[in-house]
Amino acid sequence: MLVPGLYIVATPIGNLGDVSRRAIEVLSGCAVVACEDTRVTGKLLHHLGIKRPLRRYDDHASDAAREALLGEMTRSPVALVSDAGTPLISDPGYRLVREARARGIAVTTIPGPSAMVAALTLAGLPTDRFLFAGFLPSKDKARGDVLAEMAAVPATLVFYETGPRLVASLEAMARIMPGREIAVARELTKLHEECRTGTAEELSAHYTAHPPKGEIVLLAGPPGAPEAPGEADIDAQLLAALADLPVSKAAAQVAKAHGLDRKALYARALELKG
Ligand code: SAM
Repeated sequence: MLVPGLYIVATPIGNLGDVSRRAIEVLSGCAVVACEDTRVTGKLLHHLGIKRPLRRYDDHASDAAREALLGEMTRSPVALVSDAGTPLISDPGYRLVREARARGIAVTTIPGPSAMVAALTLAGLPTDRFLFAGFLPSKDKARGDVLAEMAAVPATLVFYETGPRLVASLEAMARIMPGREIAVARELTKLHEECRTGTAEELSAHYTAHPPKGEIVLLAGPPGAPEAPGEADIDAQLLAALADLPVSKAAAQVAKAHGLDRKALYARALELKG
Protein backbone atom coordinates (compact mmCIF):
# COMPACT_ATOMS: atom_id res chain seq x y z
CA MET A 1 0.00 0.00 0.00
CA LEU A 2 1.59 3.28 -1.11
CA VAL A 3 1.40 6.34 1.12
CA PRO A 4 0.18 9.62 -0.42
CA GLY A 5 2.82 11.72 -2.17
CA LEU A 6 4.69 12.17 -5.42
CA TYR A 7 6.57 9.21 -6.91
CA ILE A 8 9.12 10.00 -9.64
CA VAL A 9 9.29 6.86 -11.77
CA ALA A 10 12.00 6.18 -14.38
CA THR A 11 10.90 4.09 -17.37
CA PRO A 12 12.88 2.32 -20.14
CA ILE A 13 14.70 4.30 -22.86
CA GLY A 14 14.04 1.67 -25.52
CA ASN A 15 14.20 -1.80 -24.04
CA LEU A 16 11.06 -2.61 -22.07
CA GLY A 17 13.01 -5.24 -20.14
CA ASP A 18 14.71 -2.39 -18.26
CA VAL A 19 11.60 -1.47 -16.26
CA SER A 20 12.29 -2.03 -12.56
CA ARG A 21 10.22 -4.08 -10.15
CA ARG A 22 9.66 -0.99 -8.01
CA ALA A 23 8.51 0.98 -11.06
CA ILE A 24 5.88 -1.71 -11.69
CA GLU A 25 4.81 -1.72 -8.03
CA VAL A 26 4.38 2.05 -7.94
CA LEU A 27 2.66 2.29 -11.32
CA SER A 28 0.24 -0.48 -10.27
CA GLY A 29 -0.42 1.01 -6.84
CA CYS A 30 -0.74 4.74 -7.53
CA ALA A 31 -4.05 6.57 -7.85
CA VAL A 32 -3.03 8.44 -10.99
CA VAL A 33 -0.09 8.53 -13.41
CA ALA A 34 0.96 12.01 -14.55
CA CYS A 35 2.70 11.78 -17.93
CA GLU A 36 3.85 13.83 -20.91
CA ASP A 37 1.87 11.95 -23.52
CA THR A 38 -1.01 9.69 -22.53
CA ARG A 39 -0.63 7.56 -25.71
CA VAL A 40 3.06 6.82 -25.03
CA THR A 41 2.53 6.00 -21.36
CA GLY A 42 -0.70 4.17 -22.18
CA LYS A 43 1.32 1.77 -24.36
CA LEU A 44 3.88 1.17 -21.59
CA LEU A 45 1.16 0.45 -19.02
CA HIS A 46 -0.66 -1.81 -21.46
CA HIS A 47 2.58 -3.77 -22.02
CA LEU A 48 2.93 -4.12 -18.24
CA GLY A 49 -0.72 -5.16 -17.82
CA ILE A 50 -1.42 -2.11 -15.63
CA LYS A 51 -4.62 -0.04 -15.80
CA ARG A 52 -4.41 3.34 -14.06
CA PRO A 53 -5.91 6.73 -14.84
CA LEU A 54 -3.49 8.89 -16.86
CA ARG A 55 -3.22 12.65 -16.49
CA ARG A 56 -1.27 14.75 -19.01
CA TYR A 57 1.29 16.99 -17.32
CA ASP A 58 4.31 19.07 -18.32
CA ASP A 59 6.04 22.10 -16.83
CA HIS A 60 3.96 24.39 -19.05
CA ALA A 61 0.72 23.03 -17.59
CA SER A 62 -1.67 25.64 -16.21
CA ASP A 63 -1.43 26.56 -12.55
CA ALA A 64 -4.86 25.01 -12.09
CA ALA A 65 -3.68 21.67 -13.52
CA ARG A 66 -0.60 21.70 -11.27
CA GLU A 67 -2.74 22.62 -8.25
CA ALA A 68 -5.09 19.74 -8.99
CA LEU A 69 -2.18 17.27 -9.07
CA LEU A 70 -0.63 18.72 -5.91
CA GLY A 71 -3.98 18.45 -4.16
CA GLU A 72 -4.27 14.82 -5.24
CA MET A 73 -0.80 14.04 -3.81
CA THR A 74 -1.90 15.12 -0.36
CA ARG A 75 -4.64 12.44 -0.45
CA SER A 76 -3.18 9.64 -2.57
CA PRO A 77 -0.02 8.40 -4.32
CA VAL A 78 0.66 10.12 -7.66
CA ALA A 79 3.31 8.79 -10.07
CA LEU A 80 5.16 11.03 -12.52
CA VAL A 81 6.70 9.46 -15.63
CA SER A 82 8.05 10.92 -18.85
CA ASP A 83 7.87 9.38 -22.32
CA ALA A 84 11.12 7.53 -21.67
CA GLY A 85 13.92 7.54 -19.11
CA THR A 86 14.13 9.59 -15.94
CA PRO A 87 11.64 12.42 -15.40
CA LEU A 88 13.17 15.91 -14.93
CA ILE A 89 16.27 15.02 -17.01
CA SER A 90 15.54 17.22 -20.06
CA ASP A 91 11.93 16.32 -19.28
CA PRO A 92 9.06 17.79 -17.22
CA GLY A 93 8.77 17.58 -13.46
CA TYR A 94 11.04 20.22 -11.98
CA ARG A 95 8.24 22.64 -11.10
CA LEU A 96 6.05 19.88 -9.70
CA VAL A 97 8.81 18.49 -7.45
CA ARG A 98 9.80 21.95 -6.28
CA GLU A 99 6.25 22.88 -5.41
CA ALA A 100 5.51 19.54 -3.74
CA ARG A 101 8.63 19.85 -1.57
CA ALA A 102 7.75 23.43 -0.65
CA ARG A 103 4.38 22.19 0.62
CA GLY A 104 5.85 19.36 2.65
CA ILE A 105 4.40 16.66 0.37
CA ALA A 106 6.41 13.42 0.45
CA VAL A 107 8.48 13.07 -2.74
CA THR A 108 10.23 9.82 -3.51
CA THR A 109 12.14 8.52 -6.50
CA ILE A 110 12.20 5.18 -8.28
CA PRO A 111 15.44 5.53 -10.23
CA GLY A 112 16.18 3.71 -13.45
CA PRO A 113 17.29 4.28 -17.05
CA SER A 114 18.55 7.61 -18.28
CA ALA A 115 20.18 8.04 -21.68
CA MET A 116 22.91 10.34 -20.34
CA VAL A 117 24.13 7.80 -17.79
CA ALA A 118 23.82 4.91 -20.25
CA ALA A 119 25.92 6.88 -22.78
CA LEU A 120 28.59 7.68 -20.19
CA THR A 121 28.92 4.00 -19.34
CA LEU A 122 29.54 3.12 -23.00
CA ALA A 123 31.71 5.90 -24.36
CA GLY A 124 35.03 5.07 -22.70
CA LEU A 125 35.49 8.73 -21.72
CA PRO A 126 36.39 9.83 -18.17
CA THR A 127 33.39 9.57 -15.85
CA ASP A 128 34.93 10.93 -12.65
CA ARG A 129 33.70 14.38 -13.61
CA PHE A 130 31.05 15.17 -16.20
CA LEU A 131 28.77 18.01 -17.12
CA PHE A 132 25.35 17.21 -18.55
CA ALA A 133 24.03 20.16 -20.53
CA GLY A 134 20.81 18.85 -22.12
CA PHE A 135 20.14 19.78 -25.74
CA LEU A 136 22.48 22.16 -27.57
CA PRO A 137 20.66 25.14 -29.11
CA SER A 138 19.56 24.59 -32.70
CA LYS A 139 20.79 27.95 -34.07
CA ASP A 140 24.46 28.09 -35.12
CA LYS A 141 25.42 31.18 -33.14
CA ALA A 142 23.77 30.07 -29.90
CA ARG A 143 25.20 26.55 -30.27
CA GLY A 144 28.70 28.00 -30.79
CA ASP A 145 28.28 30.25 -27.74
CA VAL A 146 27.33 27.32 -25.51
CA LEU A 147 30.23 25.20 -26.76
CA ALA A 148 32.69 28.09 -26.28
CA GLU A 149 31.39 28.55 -22.73
CA MET A 150 31.94 24.84 -22.01
CA ALA A 151 35.23 24.31 -23.86
CA ALA A 152 37.46 24.96 -20.86
CA VAL A 153 35.41 22.98 -18.32
CA PRO A 154 37.70 20.18 -17.08
CA ALA A 155 35.08 17.45 -17.45
CA THR A 156 33.45 15.14 -19.97
CA LEU A 157 30.59 17.06 -21.61
CA VAL A 158 27.30 15.28 -22.31
CA PHE A 159 24.56 16.60 -24.63
CA TYR A 160 21.30 15.25 -25.97
CA GLU A 161 21.17 15.52 -29.74
CA THR A 162 18.93 14.77 -32.70
CA GLY A 163 19.85 13.09 -35.99
CA PRO A 164 19.20 16.11 -38.24
CA ARG A 165 21.43 18.36 -36.08
CA LEU A 166 24.26 15.98 -35.26
CA VAL A 167 26.63 16.95 -38.10
CA ALA A 168 26.23 20.68 -37.41
CA SER A 169 27.09 20.08 -33.75
CA LEU A 170 30.12 17.96 -34.65
CA GLU A 171 31.34 20.65 -37.07
CA ALA A 172 30.98 23.28 -34.33
CA MET A 173 32.91 21.04 -31.91
CA ALA A 174 35.70 20.57 -34.47
CA ARG A 175 35.99 24.35 -34.72
CA ILE A 176 35.57 25.32 -31.06
CA MET A 177 37.13 22.39 -29.20
CA PRO A 178 39.58 20.85 -31.72
CA GLY A 179 41.39 17.65 -30.82
CA ARG A 180 38.83 16.47 -28.24
CA GLU A 181 37.83 12.83 -28.09
CA ILE A 182 34.17 12.68 -29.13
CA ALA A 183 31.58 9.90 -28.76
CA VAL A 184 28.19 9.49 -30.41
CA ALA A 185 25.94 7.05 -28.52
CA ARG A 186 22.86 6.16 -30.54
CA GLU A 187 19.74 4.04 -30.01
CA LEU A 188 20.88 2.89 -26.57
CA THR A 189 19.33 -0.36 -25.30
CA LYS A 190 17.64 -0.86 -28.71
CA LEU A 191 18.31 -3.27 -31.56
CA HIS A 192 20.64 -0.90 -33.41
CA GLU A 193 22.56 0.41 -30.39
CA GLU A 194 25.85 2.01 -31.48
CA CYS A 195 28.63 3.96 -29.82
CA ARG A 196 31.15 5.48 -32.22
CA THR A 197 34.21 7.42 -31.06
CA GLY A 198 36.78 9.59 -32.82
CA THR A 199 37.58 13.21 -33.49
CA ALA A 200 34.76 15.59 -34.34
CA GLU A 201 36.10 15.77 -37.92
CA GLU A 202 36.08 11.97 -38.33
CA LEU A 203 32.59 11.61 -36.90
CA SER A 204 31.21 14.47 -38.91
CA ALA A 205 32.57 12.86 -42.12
CA HIS A 206 31.03 9.52 -41.10
CA TYR A 207 27.59 10.91 -40.27
CA THR A 208 27.56 13.10 -43.38
CA ALA A 209 27.99 9.90 -45.41
CA HIS A 210 25.57 7.93 -43.18
CA PRO A 211 22.87 10.27 -41.85
CA PRO A 212 22.06 9.05 -38.34
CA LYS A 213 18.65 7.74 -37.40
CA GLY A 214 17.12 7.49 -33.95
CA GLU A 215 18.02 8.97 -30.60
CA ILE A 216 21.48 10.30 -29.84
CA VAL A 217 23.72 11.35 -26.96
CA LEU A 218 26.81 13.36 -27.93
CA LEU A 219 29.82 13.42 -25.61
CA ALA A 220 33.16 15.26 -25.62
CA GLY A 221 36.09 14.13 -23.48
CA PRO A 222 37.76 16.72 -21.19
CA PRO A 223 40.24 19.21 -22.65
CA GLY A 224 43.82 17.92 -22.68
CA ALA A 225 46.44 19.29 -20.29
CA PRO A 226 47.75 22.62 -21.57
CA GLU A 227 51.03 22.22 -23.47
CA ALA A 228 54.12 22.68 -21.31
CA PRO A 229 55.88 25.93 -22.21
CA GLY A 230 59.26 25.65 -23.99
CA GLU A 231 62.59 26.95 -22.61
CA ALA A 232 62.36 30.14 -24.66
CA ASP A 233 58.90 30.88 -23.20
CA ILE A 234 60.15 30.32 -19.67
CA ASP A 235 63.16 32.60 -20.27
CA ALA A 236 60.88 35.31 -21.62
CA GLN A 237 58.58 35.03 -18.59
CA LEU A 238 61.54 35.08 -16.18
CA LEU A 239 62.94 38.21 -17.85
CA ALA A 240 59.55 39.90 -17.66
CA ALA A 241 59.23 39.00 -13.97
CA LEU A 242 62.82 40.12 -13.26
CA ALA A 243 61.94 43.58 -14.49
CA ASP A 244 59.74 44.06 -11.41
CA LEU A 245 60.83 41.47 -8.87
CA PRO A 246 63.97 40.27 -7.11
CA VAL A 247 65.46 37.00 -8.47
CA SER A 248 63.97 34.68 -5.85
CA LYS A 249 60.44 36.09 -6.21
CA ALA A 250 60.57 36.11 -10.01
CA ALA A 251 61.68 32.46 -10.02
CA ALA A 252 58.97 31.50 -7.51
CA GLN A 253 56.25 33.23 -9.52
CA VAL A 254 57.12 31.56 -12.82
CA ALA A 255 57.68 28.18 -11.12
CA LYS A 256 54.23 28.35 -9.52
CA ALA A 257 52.49 29.31 -12.76
CA HIS A 258 53.84 26.23 -14.55
CA GLY A 259 54.38 23.75 -11.72
CA LEU A 260 58.17 23.82 -12.31
CA ASP A 261 61.08 23.40 -9.90
CA ARG A 262 61.74 26.69 -8.08
CA LYS A 263 65.48 26.05 -7.47
CA ALA A 264 66.13 25.31 -11.15
CA LEU A 265 64.32 28.47 -12.18
CA TYR A 266 66.22 30.47 -9.55
CA ALA A 267 69.52 29.30 -11.09
CA ARG A 268 68.29 30.16 -14.58
CA ALA A 269 67.06 33.58 -13.43
CA LEU A 270 70.52 34.30 -11.98
CA GLU A 271 72.10 33.37 -15.33
CA LEU A 272 69.71 35.60 -17.22
CA LYS A 273 70.31 38.49 -14.86
CA GLY A 274 74.07 38.03 -14.82
N1 SAM B 1 14.53 11.92 -19.58
C1 SAM B 1 15.21 11.19 -20.61
C2 SAM B 1 16.39 10.43 -20.00
O1 SAM B 1 16.46 10.31 -18.80
O2 SAM B 1 17.24 9.95 -20.74
C3 SAM B 1 15.63 12.07 -21.76
C4 SAM B 1 14.52 12.82 -22.40
S1 SAM B 1 14.98 13.87 -23.69
C5 SAM B 1 13.48 14.68 -24.05
C6 SAM B 1 15.12 12.79 -25.07
C7 SAM B 1 16.56 12.71 -25.56
O3 SAM B 1 17.28 11.76 -24.78
C8 SAM B 1 16.67 12.19 -26.99
O4 SAM B 1 16.49 13.23 -27.94
C9 SAM B 1 18.08 11.67 -27.00
O5 SAM B 1 19.01 12.72 -27.13
C10 SAM B 1 18.19 11.07 -25.59
N2 SAM B 1 17.79 9.65 -25.61
C11 SAM B 1 16.66 9.12 -25.12
N3 SAM B 1 16.65 7.78 -25.31
C12 SAM B 1 17.78 7.48 -25.95
C13 SAM B 1 18.35 6.26 -26.44
N4 SAM B 1 17.72 5.10 -26.32
N5 SAM B 1 19.57 6.32 -27.04
C14 SAM B 1 20.23 7.50 -27.17
N6 SAM B 1 19.73 8.67 -26.72
C15 SAM B 1 18.52 8.66 -26.14
